[in-house]
Amino acid sequence: MALLEVEELHTTFHTEKETIRAVDGVSFEIERGETLGLVGESGSGKSVTARSVLGLVDEPGIVEAEAMRFRGDDLAEVGWEQARGDLSIVFQDPINSMNPVYTVGNQIEEALRIHQNLRGKAATDEAISLLKDVGIPDAARRVDEYPHQFSGGMRQRAVIAIALACDPDLLVCDEPTTALDVTIQAQILDLLDELQREEDLAVLFITHDMGVIEETADRVSVMYAGELIETAPVDKLFENPRHPYTRGLLASIPGRTVNGDRLPTIEGEVPTATSEPDSCRFAPRCAYAFADCNQVHPERINVSEDHGAACLLYDERFPEEPPAGGIDAVVGGDER
Ligand code: SF4
Repeated sequence: MALLEVEELHTTFHTEKETIRAVDGVSFEIERGETLGLVGESGSGKSVTARSVLGLVDEPGIVEAEAMRFRGDDLAEVGWEQARGDLSIVFQDPINSMNPVYTVGNQIEEALRIHQNLRGKAATDEAISLLKDVGIPDAARRVDEYPHQFSGGMRQRAVIAIALACDPDLLVCDEPTTALDVTIQAQILDLLDELQREEDLAVLFITHDMGVIEETADRVSVMYAGELIETAPVDKLFENPRHPYTRGLLASIPGRTVNGDRLPTIEGEVPTATSEPDSCRFAPRCAYAFADCNQVHPERINVSEDHGAACLLYDERFPEEPPAGGIDAVVGGDER
């Protein structure tokens, strides 16, 4: 049994003008001790997926799912308040994740009080211990400092300490290193990796950065316009990406380009999904698109045992079409 199982998750926002289908039929699972990377451009629905799983979507958002099970229990029945300590989140911007008028120690101790029933000296000692665990020097002194007295990297370490104070089984990291410079980013990634191995944590790691995904994830799900369009173990996805969108994302990583000086880009933007899909949402940007792509919504096809892609190129019901070219010129070879 997977630690977290999500089936057919839909998160919609009804506005006066339209209904935005921010997450549109997403299914995935995470095993204990595993890191699932959720990757995609801004606006693809990654963060809304995480917030939906954590019960953090505010009005006018509506979250519906065929099932969301944590340790086999239905999250809707257990209630998110009950489960929240077991599911913690680290947000992108540590300064906005912390309360500026409380000390770092106060904020860790609050989580310890709520989730581990620790108070007084026991809570302070544990807060200091957690700050040491996340690599804050002179933790006994710094526990009484305020967030503005911490550097950006130290603040993110403190946010991770708050998340760990909940004693979680699943840590959701929502772009946890995007606001940090490259050196600090590497330190935070190392820290998360170390903590995960020590605590046997499951991690849902959200990022737009394929380089970070390659470094951190065991498996990867690629998200586009509210849908998961490819899922595979990280090495398979990087060696043999099957969905044209994934190929485009990988081709745009510096160092992977075979020819030319300029990195290739995927022209256009992620569309906002406002209606039930009746075609491939990537079609307007896809170098492989053929006529059926504008009339049929692609379902996930297993291209190998543990590798799925939602693309009509792999659906035997449709005639083989020569790709229009473009992405192959960069990543090499049509692998249908
Ligand atoms: S279904 Fe068609 S448009 Fe969509 S990714 Fe596959 S080839 Fe491209």
